Amino acid sequence: MANPKKIDLENPALIPAGEVRRMLAEVRQADRQVKSGHYIKHEDVKAWLSSWGTDRELPVPKCACGSPEF
Ligand SMILES: [Zn+2]
Repeated sequence: MANPKKIDLENPALIPAGEVRRMLAEVRQADRQVKSGHYIKHEDVKAWLSSWGTDRELPVPKCACGSPEF
């Protein structure tokens, strides 16, 4: 089954321009969120993911600003 969204990282010349613009927009948005204090610590996410499927599943980690929003 072919995935039309798959990007060939071995041949970056084939990344569609629209994909690059979308990725840039996401990186810029992420940068703005981190700079304004909205981020989730790597350790928290790691601990949360590691708890999946265990008897002691952790709650979704909270934003560093203290709000439960994502
Ligand atoms: Zn926040």
